[in-house]
Amino acid sequence: MNALEETPVTERYLTVLGAVQKPLFLKVPVGARLSACIKAAGVIGDAALIVGGPMRGRVLSAQSAIEAAVVTRRTETLIVLPQNHPLIEKARLPMDAAMKRARSVCEQCRLCTEFCPRYRLGQNMRPNLIMRNLRREKELSETEAYREAFGDAVNCCFCGLCDAVCPMGLQPRRMNAYCLGGLKKNRGFMLPRQMQPVPREKLGGLDTKRLENRLGLSEYGGFHDFTYGELTAAEVSIPFLQQAHRPAQPLKHVGDVVEKGERIATDGFCAGIHASIGGTITKISANGAVIKA
Ligand code: SF4
Ligand code: SF4
Repeated sequence: MNALEETPVTERYLTVLGAVQKPLFLKVPVGARLSACIKAAGVIGDAALIVGGPMRGRVLSAQSAIEAAVVTRRTETLIVLPQNHPLIEKARLPMDAAMKRARSVCEQCRLCTEFCPRYRLGQNMRPNLIMRNLRREKELSETEAYREAFGDAVNCCFCGLCDAVCPMGLQPRRMNAYCLGGLKKNRGFMLPRQMQPVPREKLGGLDTKRLENRLGLSEYGGFHDFTYGELTAAEVSIPFLQQAHRPAQPLKHVGDVVEKGERIATDGFCAGIHASIGGTITKISANGAVIKA
């Protein structure tokens, strides 16, 4: 909202929860290190991190990746989990291994389809069929045959519910993303989305408790006794790609002194990128700027 009104977005409120000693509700400057946020919640040692929700969030498991990651103006939730948690292990599985498992293990139970919100809405989205067709993907040299086998992937919203309900621990969501990539790049065509679906008969749902259980998050669920905190940073690393379209262009140079809230990059469309702390720019590139207080 602030960004729409061209008010500088220099801070984020975010939650830190999961395998932490002290769940936190934190006010943090944009560009602060995620590692500092999780340390503030009492995380010591080799934990993994989901930035965002457990089904769609970005998984960071290597310590170097966690150290390098920073708060952006879209960061909302940090879920700390042990390295051997099933959600982390699934995300770490290399694509070719995930593909082999999809081709050989899927038992066509259709649970992924029954729970898929896009299928329920009446759209042509049957993840079980995509999983089945993966077995013959290499034989589909004809564009039309490929489109018929995998075209439904265009209706996927990547909510991840299919991954959560699959009894075999497979990743239909990831396979949809793979097929969508195949439709876009290799085959050079894209199907239009189905915009006026007719909802299918109402089917039984999955309540939050069962979903938490399926995701292996029961022990971290329920109401949290959040502690409110504020994190300050002596140095911030502010990325220039924080909006949907393209990175903002730098307006400053190394050595420039900036005030908190001063615009340091612009893309001509949105509010631009602002300094989240006052200080000196010590590094600037097409990707972002480092400011030292
Ligand atoms: S839920 Fe899993 S095993 Fe069942 S059809 Fe879907 S991908 Fe296959
Ligand atoms: S990720 Fe896609 S296929 Fe899976 S449940 Fe969500 S909409 Fe359906």
